[in-house]
Amino acid sequence: MAGTVPTLPESFAPSSDSVFSDQFGFYSLDSNVPGLSKVILDKLNMKEYSEYRAVLEGKSKVGFRSHKEMFQKLEETFQFCAYCSKLPSNLPDPKALKRCIKCLNVYYCSKDCQKKDWPLHKKFCKMLHMVAIDRLVEWLIHTGDLPFLTEAWSRPAKEIRCWEDWLSMQGDLTPRLEPIMSSKNMTDLWANACRPRPEDAELHVSMWRVCSEFLSRPLTIGLGIRMCCLDPYSRPLTIHLVGAGHNETLGARTTDLDELSRMFPGHQGLEVVMVGPEVVQGPIMRPPLRAFGPRGRVYISAYKGLYHQFWEEVVEKGEAARPDLVVGFHPGFHASQGLGEGWLPTLLLLRDYNIPSLFTMYNDGELQYSLQILLELEMDIKGTGPNPFSSQKAEQVQSCPNKQPSYCNAFYLYFQGLLDTALEEELEQ
Ligand SMILES: [Zn+2]
Ligand SMILES: [Zn+2]
Repeated sequence: MAGTVPTLPESFAPSSDSVFSDQFGFYSLDSNVPGLSKVILDKLNMKEYSEYRAVLEGKSKVGFRSHKEMFQKLEETFQFCAYCSKLPSNLPDPKALKRCIKCLNVYYCSKDCQKKDWPLHKKFCKMLHMVAIDRLVEWLIHTGDLPFLTEAWSRPAKEIRCWEDWLSMQGDLTPRLEPIMSSKNMTDLWANACRPRPEDAELHVSMWRVCSEFLSRPLTIGLGIRMCCLDPYSRPLTIHLVGAGHNETLGARTTDLDELSRMFPGHQGLEVVMVGPEVVQGPIMRPPLRAFGPRGRVYISAYKGLYHQFWEEVVEKGEAARPDLVVGFHPGFHASQGLGEGWLPTLLLLRDYNIPSLFTMYNDGELQYSLQILLELEMDIKGTGPNPFSSQKAEQVQSCPNKQPSYCNAFYLYFQGLLDTALEEELEQ
């Protein structure tokens, strides 16, 4: 059971594909709930991970006949006993699996399992209740109903130190949320979801949490701009988003980082190039600018490939500007089994060109591992800590729900160039 590593499917070929971090993550679901990765593929009518990838990359579509079917299949990927990990297919009566009525998020195969799990589950039930709502409300990001409209910043960026400060500039959100509450997609969502529509107050805070994840990206970039004392009012800036993957690029719109223009109104032009092997096709897939971006606007472009390749093929040839700042959301190099071929050349490049770099992590454990790797590379770490603009939406560990959740961009790590001591040694040699 828990702790045993399952045999990987035959299609699993880590060597050729190891720069794709989530292949490991996907099959590691099975170490907690044996067979869960297969359930997810089955629900999506897929045979193997490569098909799942193709969908994530926008190369093929999952055909659902209706929204009802889509939400049902999504829910079915959470259906296993939270105590003994049995999947419905391993029960004499698959219908015997019953949901916790408080959170509507975890399932049990029997009253006995539920009773035994309660001492642990009661610590997470409330949080899992919110998570179950959020993962449905998140659909409204894909339909374009969310994020809600935001205001230009009435105070300078340096005075906005946390979400509370940011919210205080927004005023009452209710009039902006009301049209979304009564929208067709919101009605559709709860007509088809496998649960009743939550109370309005609960939906309001859920919409805020979902939007905080979306806004956390531009605000974290803004934090990086301020940390390395760049002035977007004195000249145009170029930011490279390294290791960009599905989170940033699936369904991405060219307006996704516009909050940066509300943060620095009238700036000289901000260009963001998303670079990564997992970049997904879409409207942002366009070449970087040769001249600087239009004043007061954010221009997003994307390049599918590893960062050092992008550097050699595009930056060195003068087809893209050198970055003033490099940002990486959850680069995951601490867990990457292909650090050598994937992240190492990038990290060395950032170090040797002395580029200010800001990376984010889901939790403190990841931060500590990442820090260790960067210290081994003799990077000059300028700062680390909890990100004041961390997402407020909890991420449930799908295969192990009774666990402390993670939050997107929860921690940051800021570094630039080589450590002084390492530099001195180099000079002495
Ligand atoms: Zn059970
Ligand atoms: Zn519960």
